Amino acid sequence: MDSSGEKWIKNGQMFKEIAHINTIYCNDEALTVLLQPIDQSHKCPAIVRCLAVHESIHWGDAFSSNPEICKGNKGKSGVGAGSHEDWMRSEEKAFNAQLRCLERSLKESYCDEYCKKWIEMEISNIKNIYLPKLCEEHIQNEKVF
Ligand SMILES: [Zn+2]
Repeated sequence: MDSSGEKWIKNGQMFKEIAHINTIYCNDEALTVLLQPIDQSHKCPAIVRCLAVHESIHWGDAFSSNPEICKGNKGKSGVGAGSHEDWMRSEEKAFNAQLRCLERSLKESYCDEYCKKWIEMEISNIKNIYLPKLCEEHIQNEKVF
């Protein structure tokens, strides 16, 4: 149980608004990771694997904060942190875990030039765009990404 911060909650977001992003959600009563299919991802499995690592951090934060988060839910509902601060903390942790996953993957033997370039681009986007953007935009925008 994460005693710092507020409980994560089902936030009532319409599922169609989050259906096109990588996120976690309540699928009936099961807290579930949603990953979008990525074109050509079979050429570089690390990309999807590391996105799954990212979302699993949110899953873990949500579940440890509120194991009953999806209790009684019917259908599909969005899930959110108890506060923007909680969300930002989870997001930062998730991106850092994703980064470590990507950096490790660069060293794997299956990783050809195509995959390496893709991973390097992803690493650069996280370091130069997503993480810096967290500090500017997250306050106005609860969107999970
Ligand atoms: Zn995230």
